[in-house]
Amino acid sequence: MPQQVRRETGMGIEIKTVGIIGAGQMGTGIAHVCAASGLDVRLNDRDSGRLDAGLALIDANLSRQVQKGSLSEDQRRTALERIALARGYADLGPCDLVIEAATEDEATKRKIFQDLCPSLKPDALVATNTSSISITRLAASTDRPDRFIGIHFMNPVPVMQLVELIRGIATEDPTYESAKAFIGKLGKTSTMSEDFPAFIVNRILLPMINEAIYTLYEGVGSVESIDTAMKLGANHPMGPLQLADFIGLDTCLSVMQVLYEGLADSKYRPCPLLVKYVEAGWLGRKTKRGFYDYRGETPIPTR
Ligand code: NAD
Repeated sequence: MPQQVRRETGMGIEIKTVGIIGAGQMGTGIAHVCAASGLDVRLNDRDSGRLDAGLALIDANLSRQVQKGSLSEDQRRTALERIALARGYADLGPCDLVIEAATEDEATKRKIFQDLCPSLKPDALVATNTSSISITRLAASTDRPDRFIGIHFMNPVPVMQLVELIRGIATEDPTYESAKAFIGKLGKTSTMSEDFPAFIVNRILLPMINEAIYTLYEGVGSVESIDTAMKLGANHPMGPLQLADFIGLDTCLSVMQVLYEGLADSKYRPCPLLVKYVEAGWLGRKTKRGFYDYRGETPIPTR
């Protein structure tokens, strides 16, 4: 691949106030680590019920850290106080960085950026936590492609060490450097990837999960035997179907569709069984049913 020429105009920015759009599993996790690292957070969701549930979840997760002794009661309280709810984009005006962590759907994300940008400071950075969608294409729906970057946190955010930084074609060096310093401030490690479908982690991980679903679909093994095989046979901490439920089956399907369309290769065809689970609304842990049923005390395989 030809060497890329980086533009280096404009200034970096120190991130002190972070806006987060989407209070789902990722948005709440990002809010948690930012607030616990001393940054001010403004959390937005189109669904006010998700905002309240998100705050309650952050509180519960911070309290668990206090019980484990990794956080003091004072730190828990200060972290919670640093999180303000943003009922509209105008409340995100003072942010140095806004991270979009809404549903993995390109039209939804594009609309967010179009509506958000007029409320922001000219030098504010805008980022997306997308698992797979083109950073360059999303950047084009903003008024600042040079100050736009992919900041891809892993799930669960408070636990996972890695954050992938993805540069769109127009992302300038100071934007990348500011994002890298921000990740360092959160005590995490970043890798840099170029803007190709699903970047590094999901380009490798999701085809494996999709193959596990094909293995189930073709009757090679049951949910339990596939997960046990990969845990004990490949030393994975979680089975691939358990992991799919954890990520969210809608997100898994969406990433496979991006790989299939973006790389135009039939090896990325989403498994029809994955499509069926998503059509049923069985999206994994977040809806209490996926490859396992989570409504009782112990998860029970659904096939
Ligand atoms: P989720 O379904 O738990 O949460 C999405 C949230 O976005 C919901 O609360 C929803 O109400 C909100 N939302 C939707 N449209 C909105 C809008 N227009 N304005 C404001 N809020 C809106 O999803 P998630 O798992 O948190 O994923 C969010 C993003 O993070 C996706 O882009 C996903 O690909 C990415 N991601 C997910 C994982 C994972 O393992 N789940 C890992 C890394 C990245």
